Amino acid sequence: MGRPRISIYGLGYVGLIHAIGFALKGFEVVGYDIDGARRSAIKLGRSPIYEPGLEEALQKALELGRLRISENPLEPVLESDVSFIAVGTPSRSDGSADLSYVEQVSRTIGEGIRVKMDWHLVVVKSTVPPGTCEGFVRRIIEQTSGKSFPEDFGIASNPEFLREGNALEDFENPDRIVIGVLDPRSEGVLRSVYSFSKAPVIVTTPSTAELIKYANNAFLAMKVSFINMIANLCEKIPGCDVDVVAQGIGYDRRIGHLYLRAGPGWGGSCWLKDLRALIAIAKERGVEMHLVEATLRINEEQPLRAVEMAEKALGGLEGKRICLLGLAFKPNTDDVREAVSIKIARELLKRGSEVRVHDPRAMNNFRKIFGDEIIYTETPDKCLEGSDCAILITEWDDYRKIPSDKFKKLMKNPIVIDTRRIYSPEEFARKGVKIRQLGRFLKLDEDP
Ligand code: NAD
Repeated sequence: MGRPRISIYGLGYVGLIHAIGFALKGFEVVGYDIDGARRSAIKLGRSPIYEPGLEEALQKALELGRLRISENPLEPVLESDVSFIAVGTPSRSDGSADLSYVEQVSRTIGEGIRVKMDWHLVVVKSTVPPGTCEGFVRRIIEQTSGKSFPEDFGIASNPEFLREGNALEDFENPDRIVIGVLDPRSEGVLRSVYSFSKAPVIVTTPSTAELIKYANNAFLAMKVSFINMIANLCEKIPGCDVDVVAQGIGYDRRIGHLYLRAGPGWGGSCWLKDLRALIAIAKERGVEMHLVEATLRINEEQPLRAVEMAEKALGGLEGKRICLLGLAFKPNTDDVREAVSIKIARELLKRGSEVRVHDPRAMNNFRKIFGDEIIYTETPDKCLEGSDCAILITEWDDYRKIPSDKFKKLMKNPIVIDTRRIYSPEEFARKGVKIRQLGRFLKLDEDP
């Protein structure tokens, strides 16, 4: 086989990035998403998600004629050699991963393989519990196609580790590529797909590959929850600053600097569901995941600390106008899935505050959740106007540039809860703005 032709099922964050990425690497790619509006937008060169440079990259892939979006779910299998499954795997109510989308796509691919003459490789890119690829997906494909593994089709687990906001760059330069396979042909085809990359390749069983993904997310979340826990202690010890603690431990090569930025808790579509799924996977096998449980518990409580800081600074939240700066779960994305801003806004509403919000990109997604329960403002200035307290949640660059004078001039009551420590407390205090910072004991803070 020359360069394999690629099809991608599910054009969400992971699927779209890969469809564009592979096309720009010279592969012929055909994508399919069950959502017709999404397909239409992508065809027109409009990215349904925001990420720097993504829309331009999409337009380039389309112009080159190497990315096509199909309207027929069977066509991508028939017109490719490798199909990637990149659909969502949300949490079920018991925390386990809901595999219904994976099941549906596997049936579609199986139907395609049934009428196909050539051998076909099926790659599970979605995050799925160990055993899904070689048990669940393989069985569905065998049943729907009437064909056999590994003679007629191959199967591989190829978990994804991209970071939203940096996804195209991560596609280009992954830290490693994990290939979970049971047969040499599947390994060979997947290796040729990734031949553009110099990253180390780990070849293992599908179940190990699947578990690597969960362990990876659990470890990263644990690092962030750990530093958040230390941040809460720093606030209580005179002279303590969590960023300096993080710097001090980060230089230890066994620990490293990354993922040690304390804040109001972690969000995003993956960690919460993946940690819950990991606990469910372990529970089924009689194994306790105490560290993962503690990681989740710390994260549930952390956003409330920002609300409590505001409440303490204001002496009560009832009837107070609170401005939230930054809604996306991190800068450079419009994704608000499981964002801490949602928990903070909900808690403020529950405590009787008027909530005004601003985000450079994520307002539309936030509106889908809160409708007219809160007030959406077009600029940070409008958000601050007349408010009793501002809570900085997401550290977009735009917010770093807001001078202390502005808070003083625009707010009714200049109190800032800086959950990311992007402002200078000395400077703010000098200008008469009362500032609280998560993870820092501030002498200026002490209430008279
Ligand atoms: P997403 O919700 O953004 O996208 C999933 C897409 O699949 C949607 O557009 C949906 O319409 C489509 N879909 C659902 N059923 C379909 C079907 N039968 N046929 C075709 N399309 C269908 O999800 P995502 O964030 O891209 O995540 C996908 C998977 O990758 C998940 O398992 C996730 O855990 C994993 N993952 C995500 C990230 C991330 O940063 N978002 C990173 C690594 C791994």
